[in-house]
Amino acid sequence: MSRRRKLGRTCSACGTGIFDLSKTGKCQPCFLREYNSSEENIRLRGERLKEILRTDKEAYARKCETLARNRKKAHDNPFFIAKLRNWGRELKAKAMECPETEAKRIAGVVAANKRRRHAWLPAEHREQYFKMIRHGKFKAREAKRIILDQIAADVRRASHTTDASDTMSAAKDAVLGSSRLLQALQEAAR
Ligand SMILES: [Zn+2]
Repeated sequence: MSRRRKLGRTCSACGTGIFDLSKTGKCQPCFLREYNSSEENIRLRGERLKEILRTDKEAYARKCETLARNRKKAHDNPFFIAKLRNWGRELKAKAMECPETEAKRIAGVVAANKRRRHAWLPAEHREQYFKMIRHGKFKAREAKRIILDQIAADVRRASHTTDASDTMSAAKDAVLGSSRLLQALQEAAR
């Protein structure tokens, strides 16, 4: 048996038998425990590892493989996935606890909804539209139809005013548009 294999010495920390040629004078668990208790050691090890991954392409590929394998293993594990979801929920709840964040979030959602829902609504008709749907006087769908009709009539009228022969039909459109609006308003008042 070589000198290296002989357990003639004992670990200075726990007394377990160690190899005669041990450089640290400690068994492996005791040595690792001591090594890992130093932040400086951990930082140095991290830097050495980064340097290896930067310069050694094979080592880098092996590391990528290991990480991908571990990731897949973790994602196949329902327990881990549940834990991940929980972390997400906790983070969200923490953000919600802050009233400012919550108010900002709600304002953002409201603004986005308005933008999306009222993309068709020109600024000059906004006031009229919201007046119409306020207190359920009109259903939003009806108010939208009425305003779109009105806009169409306005467009026709605008294009016809340049042509004197169409003045009559422009007037008709205008009357039709406003009578429809009047009718709708009367229906709503009933
Ligand atoms: Zn030991």
